[in-house]
Amino acid sequence: MPMYEENSIKQPKVLIPEVKIQARIAELAQEINHDYRGKEITAICVLKGSFIFFSDMIRKIDLPMTCEFLGVSSYGNKMVSSGEIKVTLDIHEPLEKKNVILFEDIVDTGLTLSYMLNMLKTRKPASIKTCALLLKPESLKTDIDVDYLGFKVGNEFVVGYGVDFAGKWRGLPYIGYLEHDH
Ligand code: 5GP
Repeated sequence: MPMYEENSIKQPKVLIPEVKIQARIAELAQEINHDYRGKEITAICVLKGSFIFFSDMIRKIDLPMTCEFLGVSSYGNKMVSSGEIKVTLDIHEPLEKKNVILFEDIVDTGLTLSYMLNMLKTRKPASIKTCALLLKPESLKTDIDVDYLGFKVGNEFVVGYGVDFAGKWRGLPYIGYLEHDH
């Protein structure tokens, strides 16, 4: 194999193309618009991976809303969820009596989402629902419900559309997966 190929960075393969993501986002936003008609919502973006999903969603949601940002990171090995998360950026506005929707990129074991829900429920919102772009049903270890779900996927490690691997690929407009070399 020529040197330049060995050193080249392989582009992730397309798992969910941009048009499919955008079409599903329009549907999810419509559901939210319908369910929350006449109400104000607090939309929470879970950083970092959800930032593109979140920004596309909120531009399709036609409701009075405020936006908040919650930074979390897993302890330990990034590829395997420990369920114990570190809050790297907290929400300083009170959530009491608010209709909260939490926007997450991927629900894998569900431990991260479950941890965040428990933490946010202590702040006494009027309601709290979850919206996730991707769910990996085979890895789920909790019985949490995702109220608004984009797509179910297999166990492949995905990147793109805000989601990274070692800090890279967040800017891809599609959800991709990395092919193994062997
Ligand atoms: P959980 O706690 O549900 O097991 O893990 C959820 C978090 O793990 C996601 O928010 C995401 O940061 C990370 N994660 C899970 N699956 C993948 C994946 O396929 N690719 C990437 N980049 N991160 C993932």
